Amino acid sequence: MFESLSDRLGGVFDRLRGRGALSEADVREAMREVRVALLEADVALPVARSFVDKVTEQAVGQQVIRSVTPGQQVVKIVHDGLVEMLGSDAVDLNLDVTPPAVVMMVGLQGSGKTTTTAKIAKRLTEKGRKKVMMASLDVARPAAQEQLRVLGEQTGVATLPIVVGQQPVDIARRALQAAKLQGFDVVMLDTAGRLHVDAQLMEEMKAVARVAEPDETLLVVDALTGQDAVNVARSFSDQVELSGVVLTRMDGDARGGAALSMRAVTGRPIKFVGVGEKLDALDTFDPRRVAGRILG
Ligand code: GDP
Repeated sequence: MFESLSDRLGGVFDRLRGRGALSEADVREAMREVRVALLEADVALPVARSFVDKVTEQAVGQQVIRSVTPGQQVVKIVHDGLVEMLGSDAVDLNLDVTPPAVVMMVGLQGSGKTTTTAKIAKRLTEKGRKKVMMASLDVARPAAQEQLRVLGEQTGVATLPIVVGQQPVDIARRALQAAKLQGFDVVMLDTAGRLHVDAQLMEEMKAVARVAEPDETLLVVDALTGQDAVNVARSFSDQVELSGVVLTRMDGDARGGAALSMRAVTGRPIKFVGVGEKLDALDTFDPRRVAGRILG
């Protein structure tokens, strides 16, 4: 579907063979192709621009290595730059606190937040051998609390009993209290999502954060929303201190550019990627794989 970056760069650099170093003019020409490749992979425009500037600086003046073509060399420089920016290693959840550790999930409705809450809870239960409780704070959408309860049954993860009419901050308090009393290691709070970022949602989320003092605040973003994802990330990270990002729907067509935008805008690591609807379809983030995917 997409022409790979190596192919695109082939033409640009063919005439460069046998020369000593990558000149500024040649690199700039190549970087136009890099920028198009990034935009096609859904990297947000300002992020693509600043990335290209940074990589240009690194590439200009580099000696052309004999064993590779200049095009391949630039692809490698770009690839390494992407990996560096995406974060070199998988970053785990920080749950090393006096229990219960609190994980707050935030994001827009439809991003996959509730499903991801259950996926992470399942993973922590099975692989981390933690005792996990989930609580839905979404009182705006009538079916939301029930959805999490059902997911709890499917995954064998405890959920906080639903009290109809209780408000999010009070539900959070009750969840924390119950978790303490019953010896849970981790409490996962699934906050309400709205179709668009709105002020009321943000106020509610901040009020919950003040009460719950989360150890992890994870922003869930749909990788398929591409250029829009960056606005979502900016709005949330302006309002609440995020500790990480989960990128969902990476099983779809998304080339993964949203990962780069998320990282650039929030400054926080991508901690997981969602790769399907099933409750074990959750991977840790592999910067190398995503960099390869962005470059096509
Ligand atoms: P929420 O409104 O943000 O809580 O979104 P939900 O968790 O209800 O998810 C919305 C839909 O997206 C559901 O049908 C999920 O099964 C689906 N979904 C969530 N994560 C993924 C993912 O990583 N890949 C795919 N293909 N679907 C996902």
